[in-house]
Amino acid sequence: MPKKETLRSFCSLCDQTSEMEVVGLDKEIGLIWVRCPGCNGIFPPHPESTTAKNKDKSKKEGYR
Ligand SMILES: [Zn+2]
Repeated sequence: MPKKETLRSFCSLCDQTSEMEVVGLDKEIGLIWVRCPGCNGIFPPHPESTTAKNKDKSKKEGYR
């Protein structure tokens, strides 16, 4: 029987990291899909926090 797998991933919509259920696995291209429990969005998992930090850095580009 299939077992449920979860993955910690960051959701940019919910702006938080949570335990997401792995809903799909495309081994041919090495892509994983996870579902966010907050917004029910399905997307490839993001490493936690790092994306938010990168956003802060990119903000500096608009600073004069
Ligand atoms: Zn979400």
